[in-house]
Amino acid sequence: MPKYVYDTEYDVVVIGGGAAGKMAAYTAAKEGELKVALLEKMPETGGTSIYTEDLTAFNSIEQQERKTPPKFTGTPFDHYPTYAEGYARYMDYSHQRANPDVVRVQLYETAETVQFYRDLGAECVNVFVFAFNQPNELNTAHRYEGLGERMQELLLRATVNAGVDIFTSTPAQKILSNGGVVEGVEAVDSKGNKMLIGAKAVIIASGGFGNNPEMVKKYTWQHWTADYTSQCVPTQNTGDGLNMALELGADGTTAPGVVMNIPCAWGKLLTAHTTGAGIQPIVWANNRGERFANEEMGFSFMNAGSSFIKQPKGKVYAILDSAQAKYYMEEGSEISLGEFIVYNQKLTHLLAELDEAIKAGYAWKGDTVEELAGAIDDVNANALIATLKEYNEFCQDGVDKKFFKQAKYLRPLSKPPYYAIRMAASILTTIGGIRVNGDMQVTDENYDPIPGLYAAGNDASGLYGDTYNLDCPGTACGFAHASGRKAARHAIKIIKARN
Ligand SMILES: Cc1cc2nc3c(=O)[nH]c(=O)nc-3n(C[C@H](O)[C@H](O)[C@H](O)COP(=O)(O)OP(=O)(O)OC[C@H]3O[C@@H](n4cnc5c(N)ncnc54)[C@H](O)[C@@H]3O)c2cc1C
Repeated sequence: MPKYVYDTEYDVVVIGGGAAGKMAAYTAAKEGELKVALLEKMPETGGTSIYTEDLTAFNSIEQQERKTPPKFTGTPFDHYPTYAEGYARYMDYSHQRANPDVVRVQLYETAETVQFYRDLGAECVNVFVFAFNQPNELNTAHRYEGLGERMQELLLRATVNAGVDIFTSTPAQKILSNGGVVEGVEAVDSKGNKMLIGAKAVIIASGGFGNNPEMVKKYTWQHWTADYTSQCVPTQNTGDGLNMALELGADGTTAPGVVMNIPCAWGKLLTAHTTGAGIQPIVWANNRGERFANEEMGFSFMNAGSSFIKQPKGKVYAILDSAQAKYYMEEGSEISLGEFIVYNQKLTHLLAELDEAIKAGYAWKGDTVEELAGAIDDVNANALIATLKEYNEFCQDGVDKKFFKQAKYLRPLSKPPYYAIRMAASILTTIGGIRVNGDMQVTDENYDPIPGLYAAGNDASGLYGDTYNLDCPGTACGFAHASGRKAARHAIKIIKARN
């Protein structure tokens, strides 16, 4: 006997309409011929998935056909990775905190996504690394014409054609259970009415908690600077899935706390030319007036993000002189942020954006280094002056004695005016939170599955230790698709066995 009276009933209810949710709903409807509802909080599906660029896959048809990766990327790997290399990379990078059962899903189930998009007519334009010159990257990044937006459009069409009922502006609020078995979902429909939907299985794919600063504070190691990070995209991934799962007894203590950070000019977009200049191998200082990293680290947005959030109040000042500004405007960037700032992109708006940021209080200018240091609102000016003097000496000697930046990037700050751009880590998304097994079943504190409950995509833990793994670029997006499909296939099996 059901515990609740339902307004409507489905076999499967999926919470969230990003890559994971749509792939789960599509699979359950198409392969399982099940009655499926997809609930999406926003007026449109897509979530953070529409912003993605790359999707990880191992041994995909695209890799098989290309045989070898492009040579221009700077990675020492001259072949597409084997499963064993992928396995080692996920386990080693996470210091063994990754769950091997989940890692295998990533290894064995991602190639199918590539075939899936090929069948839908998507064009894979390259299979390579994300950040050129990052020595550890494997060539797993599948990049598509039209990027994530196009892929999500194709996936949405397939999901609709498979017969899934999609309810937009309908946030799920609670997962209903009866004697420990999942029974349905409580949601609020687009008119604000409470709606009870019966279900034999519920798949949580609500995209993590990147848009919820309180949860970032509570669940991640960057709690002390959470107030000083911004959010990259105007999504509403506020951790609803994690909270609902915890309410049902899911274990949320083993692997939450993984944030995908990216460096960004404060208050600006990833595509801003101040962001583009700020990630170049110039000088980064914190508010103590000290350098804190080898600024080549911009090659890996993940590492730069982690490095930024360690600084007091998460504040970083990217400092350059007029010669460098001119170089990036006329010759182009040396470091990219994927498609947001591409390699050799001429940052033509830099000076105009700097003027604007100076007015807004997020950038500063000085005719001397002393004047610049004195202008910045929250920095130890004397320490900064000493740091910049020392940096110029390193440039003269061609040796960065503190952070070992390559000599080719050691350019003295010598041509006034000088500029400082306020930078900070910006949250792309969180990844992980709900512990799952290899079938994406949500598990309780004893590692036993909670019957009928699944998590996928950003909501599911198991691939990471403390940070996103950019050594296998496209990991989160690859996993979103693979884990959604995996969850649905298990739900199909269980539901069919019950009938
Ligand atoms: C700018 C940007 C670029 C990125 N680029 C990449 C990349 O190139 N490669 C990569 O691997 N990853 C990338 N990512 C990470 C991306 O988050 C993941 O790769 C993946 O696409 C996430 O899929 P998902 O389905 O888990 O979450 P999402 O796509 O975010 O979908 C979650 C959905 O759940 C909905 N939702 C939330 N709460 C509820 C609720 N209570 N009820 C109903 N619906 C709800 C949300 O509105 C959203 O639509 C990027 C992220 C950003 C922000």
